[in-house]
Amino acid sequence: MSRQIFKSPERKSSNAITRGAPLSEYVDYTPRSLDTEAPEYNQNPNSISYAKQRRSHMYHQMAMQSEDPFTESNYMDSPVVRRHFGINTPSISYFDQKLLLAIDAEFLARKTEWHMDDFHVQTYLGTGKFGVVWQAIEQRTHTTVAIKILKKKELEEAHVVPFLKREVEIQAHLDHPNIVRLFGYFDDAERIYLVLEYAGKNDLFGELKRRQRFTEAETVKYLSQLVDALEYMHKIGVLHRDIKLENILVGHDGVIKLADFGWAVYDPQPRRNTFCGTLDYIPPEMIVNEPHSHSVDIWALGVLTFEMLTGKPPFGQTGNDADPQAVYQRITEVDIHFPSYISAGARSFICKVKTRRYIHI
Ligand code: AMP
Repeated sequence: MSRQIFKSPERKSSNAITRGAPLSEYVDYTPRSLDTEAPEYNQNPNSISYAKQRRSHMYHQMAMQSEDPFTESNYMDSPVVRRHFGINTPSISYFDQKLLLAIDAEFLARKTEWHMDDFHVQTYLGTGKFGVVWQAIEQRTHTTVAIKILKKKELEEAHVVPFLKREVEIQAHLDHPNIVRLFGYFDDAERIYLVLEYAGKNDLFGELKRRQRFTEAETVKYLSQLVDALEYMHKIGVLHRDIKLENILVGHDGVIKLADFGWAVYDPQPRRNTFCGTLDYIPPEMIVNEPHSHSVDIWALGVLTFEMLTGKPPFGQTGNDADPQAVYQRITEVDIHFPSYISAGARSFICKVKTRRYIHI
């Protein structure tokens, strides 16, 4: 059963781009502003704008110093810059350190791009909003990866290219054992391919449907990993904004990986107003149209905990037939009914999450 997804008006407003445009039109990592001047060192060195300026300046310098062809406006496409932060490189360092030692630098320097020929596609994993995901083996390193295949035409028609850019930029910068890694991306005339860490065959939503509900011990096992991932993201200024069971993939060893950064934001203003996410997980501040912050993810953590322990979200029916108004009403009133089998500790955890502060498990 799918759940209602709420889209913000943001999603509708973007400029379509010309079919067959270069890959950098669809995905890139950093704003293209040309900071050829030295960064202003009198700024607060801890500020995000300072870090961005410095990063942009560094990449531009790097592109200028290399012999790779690039133009002033697309220095982020310079192969040397891409290699620096792992775009379109074989990303061996992520896969196998031993192999990295064995591979000579000349080979690495030559091979800067992946193609579909580099992968042996194995099994179908699932279909998302805009793409199909396949399990595949990277032939050279024999690493299992997940490849998400997105059709450029569909992305353009749905006006979601800017969102894909943002998703890729954010996910590629996250490096945490409980977050799906983005190793790189490549394209052909019609499609974009995202090469992702393979995170197992199941998600927690499917797992919960099979099991009806999780024990407290199982819930804690999953939650502690998720809290770790969220704390890491929030510290570096990333909000996920769509935390839910469906977006948590689980491997056979019980290691979870947070996926789907389609709603995530980086460098957030302290407070944001976008209305987004999934009905069951929307926090009261979004419903009453007040600004939100990383509080959205923490609120979702409480909803998730309730759902894992009881098999149902706390504020009403899930599914497309849910009555949003009734659910909103219960959310704004924080109207939670705990079944009797929920322990005092679990109740207390869920209620503390309402205060939107971190609780260490
Ligand atoms: P998405 O487009 O991200 O919603 O992905 C669609 C489906 O593909 C998900 O529901 C998962 O079943 C599967 N999937 C996506 N990413 C991965 C991954 N990194 N590892 C394993 N399965 C994945």
